[in-house]
Amino acid sequence: MSAVPVYGAIEHWVEVAPDREALVFGERSWSWAELDRRVRRVAGALRAAGVEPGDRFAVLDKKHPVCLELTLAASLIGAANAVVNFRLSAEELAHVLGDSTARLAVVGEEFAPALRELQSELPRLGEVIVLGGESDQYEEWIAAAEPVADPHPAEPGDCFLQLYTSGTTGWPKGAMLTQRSMSAHTGEAVSAYDMDERTINVVAMPLYHVGGTSWALASMSAGARTIIVRDIVPAALLDLVERSAATHAFFVPAVIQMLLSDPERARTALRSLEVLGYGGSPMPAPLMERLLSTLDTPLHSVYGMTEMSGVFCVLGPAEHRDDTREHLRASAGRPLPGTELRVVDPATGDDVAPGEVGEFWVRSEQMMAGYWHMPEATRDTITPDGWLRTGDAGRQDGDGYLYIEDRVKDMVISGGENIYPAEVERVVIEHPAVADAAVIGVPHETWGETVKAVVVPTDGAEIDEAEIIAFARERLAHYKCPTSVTVVAELPRNPTGKILKRQLRTRYVS
Ligand code: ATP
Ligand code: MG
Repeated sequence: MSAVPVYGAIEHWVEVAPDREALVFGERSWSWAELDRRVRRVAGALRAAGVEPGDRFAVLDKKHPVCLELTLAASLIGAANAVVNFRLSAEELAHVLGDSTARLAVVGEEFAPALRELQSELPRLGEVIVLGGESDQYEEWIAAAEPVADPHPAEPGDCFLQLYTSGTTGWPKGAMLTQRSMSAHTGEAVSAYDMDERTINVVAMPLYHVGGTSWALASMSAGARTIIVRDIVPAALLDLVERSAATHAFFVPAVIQMLLSDPERARTALRSLEVLGYGGSPMPAPLMERLLSTLDTPLHSVYGMTEMSGVFCVLGPAEHRDDTREHLRASAGRPLPGTELRVVDPATGDDVAPGEVGEFWVRSEQMMAGYWHMPEATRDTITPDGWLRTGDAGRQDGDGYLYIEDRVKDMVISGGENIYPAEVERVVIEHPAVADAAVIGVPHETWGETVKAVVVPTDGAEIDEAEIIAFARERLAHYKCPTSVTVVAELPRNPTGKILKRQLRTRYVS
């Protein structure tokens, strides 16, 4: 595994290809030499503002290359960039910014008013630097700074990037990603996706998400041209891929769905792609079929998480098109070479029998150092012998392929039987009147918990509770079947498309 510090990989390209484009953002671009000059100034500006080794500062903005230069600058001074999700509510924003203990924040112009409103709740937050607008404070700030002459010596365990988990199962937690973890991820990703100096990589995932920042850092380390897309506008995104002759792109399933709305246009615009990655949330089977029949592009399905610095499991192009093994299309792929994997009974910590459902435990250099100042949560997540409990339940087949079933936390226990809601959801969604469904456990006097289905009707359909229950009973063991059905117009989802079960539980379990 590569032990090169994160900035070492960048310095290589500064030396061998100083004038080549490193980053592209709209009409602007930065060569490797320009990027290096900026990063060293940013590092100098951070130091001058009192950011010391071990400190955090925060970035709050939509995608912008400045976020990456701040992350790289952090790696030069032993500090960490805590990238904050701009889509959070005011309450969540206050929680995450407070949790980060950031002393300084760089905030995009459009988010500055929201941040100012919270500042009284954030006593540690001193300086706020506004990015963009007519008098771009950020550009003034770095123009006035001295470049760092003596970078902090990078130790493998130094955290330089703090990314928050998506908060699907609780409050977002700050995963401390280190020189070691990110450089291990980069090594794996560059080889899994065949990235090199000719790569032209489109970054469409947000940079507060590991799928954005680590995907960008991987292609930058490979010497690629990395294009940062600020907003997802499907037609403009297709134009951009076409115009830039991009070779690599990564989209979440929801974006793929939008891009395929005009199949002819998608086929033309995406024809330069050599790698189309997708993941982050489950890919619905009908969308997968459309993707395969619309595009010839090599597809890579990835399974990853913030705590692992990104992806650790990939299903490659050949398996996507293997008509003798169609079942593989539902698989999350096989662990990358640097990741060990076990399937474990979460209650006992013992391996389950081959092919049985259990929790995925992984061990790898890609693993975070822990959650920022949450020693208990860290102990609950990383075992003493270095296994990370992913919180995902699933099974592994005899050839090593993983099938993600559900979140361990979403498991319903009814009369002592374990029920994975995903299995019930798959059945309920098959009913013609149901467009979307989520299944949760609700308290039950006799059984401890019982299954409830929350469903979205297809256009104009009437949902009959008894009929849905009967439909499930024909297809599932009785204990797994919903005992109540509630109809809603829409299910609460986070930006990567994951259903927020905890919101449903708060709504229906009280
Ligand atoms: P939190 O940990 O705060 O509850 P989160 O787990 O959603 O939030 P992330 O680290 O952004 O935060 O997401 C990682 C999770 O996303 C994985 O643990 C898994 O549940 C899900 N996931 C990732 N890739 C895939 C995939 N290819 N298919 C299905 N689910 C996936
Ligand atoms: Mg998680």
